[in-house]
Amino acid sequence: MAHPTHRYRLQWSKMIAPKVLHLSFAREDNAPFSFIAGQFITLQIEGPTKMLHRSYSVANAPDEDHSIEMACAYVEGGIASNLLFNLKPGDIVQASGPFGLFVLKEEHPARYILVATGTGVTPYRSMLNEIKRRLENTQPHLKVALILGVRHLDELLFKDQFIQFANEHPNFEFYACYSRVKPEVLKAPFERIGYVQDTFAELKLSPENDIVYLCGNPNMIDTTFGLLTEQGFDRKNVRREKYLFSH
Ligand SMILES: Cc1cc2nc3c(=O)[nH]c(=O)nc-3n(C[C@H](O)[C@H](O)[C@H](O)COP(=O)(O)OP(=O)(O)OC[C@H]3O[C@@H](n4cnc5c(N)ncnc54)[C@H](O)[C@@H]3O)c2cc1C
Repeated sequence: MAHPTHRYRLQWSKMIAPKVLHLSFAREDNAPFSFIAGQFITLQIEGPTKMLHRSYSVANAPDEDHSIEMACAYVEGGIASNLLFNLKPGDIVQASGPFGLFVLKEEHPARYILVATGTGVTPYRSMLNEIKRRLENTQPHLKVALILGVRHLDELLFKDQFIQFANEHPNFEFYACYSRVKPEVLKAPFERIGYVQDTFAELKLSPENDIVYLCGNPNMIDTTFGLLTEQGFDRKNVRREKYLFSH
């Protein structure tokens, strides 16, 4: 099936970490954008000789006032990075989608383990409304642990929102893992030193009960996937969205 391509107008953008820009678009024709939480869109950028394609996860929940948000981590000299970081409200980009199967399925695991590095947390932000619906209505016994890995404290994206969600939902836990921080700077109970996979022992991951989602840095995903399958996880219970970049 062909995926529709549309023109999108930038509504606003703001920096949310030293190198991460949060952007909100709407379709130029003001029509709603229909997608499932966890999916991504692909920007089509006119290059010198051909069209270039760069994908970004949708960062907001479906049906939120027709807008479509994303978070772009700046890559030095990057084509899409330079385009997005220089957009002004009202500017137009072209994108196709939605794409992807990195979505919550209709299933009843004991626990979801949602793991991300950097902007890889955006699909989980998009899923919050669906997680809320399950926790409050259909699956009150479901547990969810969200683990976000970054290098430094100021790179933690959407922290306040995740902490608030965890405060409102006792079955939802949020952990931040810092890979380049000294233990003495940690202040909050949700903070840890190390890589995302270092939390797995504390969380007592279980191949029988847990379904794991991994999103972001391809190296983190390959390492973690290897670790989990060695521990007995069935491949279908470890779902991956790699933020591969073009060469
Ligand atoms: C399914 C999917 C979803 C994605 N979602 C997001 C998202 O939500 N947010 C987001 O910020 N990115 C996301 N990405 C990555 C994004 O598509 C681009 O690859 C990224 O933004 C860099 O594009 P660019 O045009 O700025 O850089 P490019 O012009 O592609 O790259 C410039 C140079 O930097 C190198 N490079 C590119 N990326 C990196 C990197 N991460 N680390 C080191 N070197 C690099 C390239 O090899 C090249 O030499 C996603 C990728 C996929 C496949």
